[in-house]
Amino acid sequence: MKLYKIKKSNIDKRGLYASKNIKSGEKVIEYVGKIITKKRTEEDLKFDNSKAIYLFNINNKYDLDGDFTYNTARLINHSCNPNCEVEGKGLKLWISSIRDIKKNEELSYDYGFGFDESYKEFPCKCGSINCCGYIIREGSRWRIKDKRKKSNR
Ligand SMILES: [Zn+2]
Repeated sequence: MKLYKIKKSNIDKRGLYASKNIKSGEKVIEYVGKIITKKRTEEDLKFDNSKAIYLFNINNKYDLDGDFTYNTARLINHSCNPNCEVEGKGLKLWISSIRDIKKNEELSYDYGFGFDESYKEFPCKCGSINCCGYIIREGSRWRIKDKRKKSNR
């Protein structure tokens, strides 16, 4: 039985939800796509934007392009308080749980976007208490909070 199901989401149009209780550390769904060389991702205009959401680093030579409809895992939304992470195993990528997840809870992971001037194009609607308002990797969120403080002065 699959550990996930596709459902309407409050974060984005659709999302993946736990179809049963999931224990921390389980492989939930494989993140599938095409393995391409880094040389190609550098040359192909499709990946021009540094925020190519579905592009993952596999190793120093290859990336994985998951921008295909058959890649169900691409429906998983970003959250500032995620319950999953992307885990590399050789040339494969898995979405794995990082804590116990209850049935019907939405699955999420940190998209890992860096902080740059275009962050405002990616608002976050995850609804977590710690949500910084934008899709930015955990280590860079303090920059947003810093900005807010300045604008309140
Ligand atoms: Zn958020």
